[in-house]
Amino acid sequence: MIDREVLRQWFEDHKMEAAQVLMDFIKTAPVNPRSGEGGKGEIEAAKVLSGYLEKWGFEVNRIDAEDPEFGPRPNIWTVLEGEDTSKTVWLIGHMDVVSPGDLSQWDTDPFEPVMTEDGWIIGRGSEDNGQGVVSSMFALRAMKELDIKPKYNVAVLLVADEETGSDYGLAYLVKKGLFKEIDMAIVPDGGTPDGHFIEVAEKSILWLRFTVKGKQAHASMPPAGVNARRAASYLAVYLDEYLHDVYADRDNLFEPPYSTFELTKIETNVDSVNIIPGKDVFYMDMRILPQWKLDDIIDDVYSIVSKVEYEFKVSISVDVVQRNDAAPPTSPDAEIVRRLKKAIEIDRSITPVVGGIGGGTVAAHLREVGVDSVVWATIEEFAHQPNERAHIDNLIGDARTFVLTLTLDEF
Ligand SMILES: [Zn+2]
Repeated sequence: MIDREVLRQWFEDHKMEAAQVLMDFIKTAPVNPRSGEGGKGEIEAAKVLSGYLEKWGFEVNRIDAEDPEFGPRPNIWTVLEGEDTSKTVWLIGHMDVVSPGDLSQWDTDPFEPVMTEDGWIIGRGSEDNGQGVVSSMFALRAMKELDIKPKYNVAVLLVADEETGSDYGLAYLVKKGLFKEIDMAIVPDGGTPDGHFIEVAEKSILWLRFTVKGKQAHASMPPAGVNARRAASYLAVYLDEYLHDVYADRDNLFEPPYSTFELTKIETNVDSVNIIPGKDVFYMDMRILPQWKLDDIIDDVYSIVSKVEYEFKVSISVDVVQRNDAAPPTSPDAEIVRRLKKAIEIDRSITPVVGGIGGGTVAAHLREVGVDSVVWATIEEFAHQPNERAHIDNLIGDARTFVLTLTLDEF
């Protein structure tokens, strides 16, 4: 068992250094080139962060994914050897950030980070995902300098391209075979302000657009037209009833503990009350429990669509606006979950909650190949906002929790 007081003191002593690394990272302005104008990409950030790791005595590996439009996208990692070297626990942060958005909404320059007297570091990428990047790096450094051998190999992996789908980041590395099925991963890129929530599962996401076409006519002469609005209304109700009925099962891992099927946006159809619309467009947002296959749901949607086409003499097209197939969940009993849970309990005297979310984290790429993965961090949810900020105590606290997680004898 490691001396928790020594650990606490080490992080206290290295607090300002960690803040400096975070600020140096922000200064590199690693805006994902695919997420908006002026993105310089992750190259400079990779250089700066590699520089720190090397200075601390780590050997840094790098794989660039060749982006045909924007050139090499760097991915870097370093490994600290554990007692058992047969598997690796990966701490994964992403280097790319989203663009600052409307600059007039920022009180400071998004890429000239400032630290407030009460410990906030303000700048684009401070929370998403600078905090996770730097907390992972300092967890590794603490173990090295304090001569603490983790249970398994621990790797800090800093990836590109998280904000636009990970094709040149994590998904690329999965394809390259970097991960073994027996490996585990912690992704500090989501969480709550007190750090009580450990994410192990996500729902699939499916957004559909329905375009119903009939024939426009004057409202006083319905026989001259085919009312697309009426057909769309029936279609919406049929879909709503059928999907809620057939896919009604529950899973208490999730909040809410069932699949959701919500009718959302409607596009403007006609300008006047006395016109029968010839075209009507509406959308559904579905968040579906991972046991269901999206293809089966889409098949069901098409058979309802055919029924409405026949019944109302309209034609209907269905477009997938967004689709994200959930990976199989990581079991709440998996070793990495139990370790992290225990570490949070010990370090913070709170009872962690293990659960699922509405979808869309990078952990899905790892779960897809059988790597048990948790998404966890202590964050205040300033990601993607103007005046994005991260608190140094959260960063240091998370790093300390990682060290405990990786070294516990009992959990
Ligand atoms: Zn992120």
